[in-house]
Amino acid sequence: MTTEHVDVVVIGAGATGLSAAHALRKADRSVVVLEARERVGGRLWTDEVDGVDLEIGGQWVSPDQEALLAMLDELGLETFERYREGASVYIGPTGERRTFTGEQLPVPPAVEAEMRRVTEVLDDLAARMDPARPWEAPFAAELDRQTFAAWLEDACAEPEARDNLELFIAQAMITKPAHAFSALQAVLMAASAGSFSNLVDSEFILDRRVVGGLQRVPLRLAELLGDAVRTGRDVESVDWTDDGVTVVAGDTRVGARHLVVAVPPTAVQRIRFTPPLPSEQREARQHHSFGMVIKVHATYPTAFWREAGLSGTAFSPYELVHEAYDNTNHDDPRGTLVGFVSDLRADEVLARGADERRALVLASLARYLGDRALEPDAYFESDWRSEELASGAYGSSFDIGGITRFGPRLREPVGPISIGSSDVAGLGFQHVDGALRVGAELAAGITA
Ligand SMILES: Cc1cc2nc3c(=O)[nH]c(=O)nc-3n(C[C@H](O)[C@H](O)[C@H](O)COP(=O)(O)OP(=O)(O)OC[C@H]3O[C@@H](n4cnc5c(N)ncnc54)[C@H](O)[C@@H]3O)c2cc1C
Repeated sequence: MTTEHVDVVVIGAGATGLSAAHALRKADRSVVVLEARERVGGRLWTDEVDGVDLEIGGQWVSPDQEALLAMLDELGLETFERYREGASVYIGPTGERRTFTGEQLPVPPAVEAEMRRVTEVLDDLAARMDPARPWEAPFAAELDRQTFAAWLEDACAEPEARDNLELFIAQAMITKPAHAFSALQAVLMAASAGSFSNLVDSEFILDRRVVGGLQRVPLRLAELLGDAVRTGRDVESVDWTDDGVTVVAGDTRVGARHLVVAVPPTAVQRIRFTPPLPSEQREARQHHSFGMVIKVHATYPTAFWREAGLSGTAFSPYELVHEAYDNTNHDDPRGTLVGFVSDLRADEVLARGADERRALVLASLARYLGDRALEPDAYFESDWRSEELASGAYGSSFDIGGITRFGPRLREPVGPISIGSSDVAGLGFQHVDGALRVGAELAAGITA
């Protein structure tokens, strides 16, 4: 086996790895990117399924995501607004369906007041945290040792307010039950998006999409990098000394002065490092795990909900599909809905057969938007749990106490090796914006 030599090898052609390689190339470093899958993009994947272009992975762009917006500009990619005209739907604890406009859910006044009050508390905590160093927040130790569920139980007097506040962070973002991550993790999620108010504002957080799909970002970056990007190369081993690395994937062998491992923390342990990574590094990643959400896509001959004056936006902490949106493609006469089934509910429906699951999901969409939701022309579930290289969605996060105990280690370089992905980002945590920021930082760490 011959060994090719470059300045930097990058493992992983997701947004993190490709943005790192792009920045390194701009700084005149020679790079090779090795990607295990036969495609680039990782958790960004736009594909045609049953005649419909679907965003199987990440898709939305929000106004605070400056790194992503700058990259879209640089790559000349256009965006369009998510459809949001008309009324949204909320289903309350006893199954009653209410329509509303604006951001305030149609809940009883006492629930609304409590949601506002606790939102202010979370906004204040988020404002006092640097999302890149959450372990340094003055309240870090106290909040990292309690579950978000327990914190909310103390902080919020109204059960319906609690259920909704939990929805915005647990089901909608971390995609783990609120008893499985810390209150500090919840504050980090809010701080990484600018504030908790930003997170709960779907107008803000789910503002725009990219024409042709968000996977166009990694596809364009890979195009610019040309034959430096090699797919179908699942890196098995890395031999390293302080002076450099040798990376092996099947019959590909590349030597370099530096290595960027741009894979989620959970995928780092699939690679055999010789000598092994320091034990504190291995231990830290054992406490990071993926959340789980099923992203459901249903396409209809028309966007029938629009005819009824509905935006397609729907929320309920009491429904199987806890949130749904109009996800109709740019310039497509058909109507597409996207919905999400998270954590414990995802486990429950994944244990059932595909037909039963589909019927349950569509019945949930129908309770929001009417019986026409029961009969889509096309139906598809993005199942990231079956993807060994991600093992869940949207991203991975620490268990209780993990941020303060292990957080700083995930960003520490080891000799010539630097490791990162959107899962360790500060701003843009678990989002493409965070992936691009981490990629740029990893590259800067090498070129500085
Ligand atoms: C269903 C879903 C919806 C989402 N929605 C949004 C959204 O609307 N907006 C948003 O901003 N974000 C969203 N996200 C999150 C976003 O997609 C991710 O945060 C981001 O794409 C992660 O990029 P990354 O490069 O850090 O990691 P990844 O995309 O996971 O890239 C890592 C790459 O490394 C490769 N790899 C792993 N191990 C090896 C190995 N040993 N050898 C070679 N290659 C390897 C993998 O195949 C992969 O391509 C969503 C994610 C999912 C799954």
